[in-house]
Amino acid sequence: MPPGTIWRIGVEAMDPSRNRKTFLSERVSVLVGDITEQDVDAIVNAANSTLLGGGGVDGAIHSRGGREIRQACEEIRRTRFPKGLPAGEAVITAAGRLPARYVIHTVGPICRPGREPDGRMLALCYRNSLALAAERELRSIAFPAISTGAFGYPPEQAAPVVSETIQSFLSQKTSLERVLLVFYEPSDMTLFLKNQRFTAP
Ligand code: ADP
Repeated sequence: MPPGTIWRIGVEAMDPSRNRKTFLSERVSVLVGDITEQDVDAIVNAANSTLLGGGGVDGAIHSRGGREIRQACEEIRRTRFPKGLPAGEAVITAAGRLPARYVIHTVGPICRPGREPDGRMLALCYRNSLALAAERELRSIAFPAISTGAFGYPPEQAAPVVSETIQSFLSQKTSLERVLLVFYEPSDMTLFLKNQRFTAP
């Protein structure tokens, strides 16, 4: 099979040379990777409300991006959110030493065991991050799997919310041409692909 061949299976397409799947006429790519390495206009950080760094994606972004991100977050705390960034909201900062131009920080819902996950809040994170990128006329954005790590949101329940929210956003006029969904573990990408609800545009 020649490199770059794209296979179409229903609404999704598979590019075996790059091991990623695409949806919505290739505007959405689903891949396994490290969010800090993505060369896009903005990467999204699954932050906590302090905005001052933490573990998981947040820790990786702050440690690889360096002081500039931390200082910008401290400034946002001081001027706009002294009590912390509420869940569902998003703010944008510079990206320091990362290849991306900006980092969009959003705080996902915490899901307690035995409780129904807050899909409305998770959708808000994605929608507000996309809206912030579009407001800045950005063309590409990469998301990690918000809330599905330490915050405990079941990944198979996040997938329909995430896919429907992105599809609905991209159905309106927007500067965004490319949305990347970056999974750290191949098994998380598989779970997403099984549970996503992208439909033919
Ligand atoms: P949250 O607190 O919102 O649950 P986490 O950072 O704990 O955020 O995890 C969210 C998801 O990000 C998990 O699926 C985790 O495996 C993944 N992840 C962790 N590090 C990275 C990274 N460097 N790039 C992409 N995804 C990552």
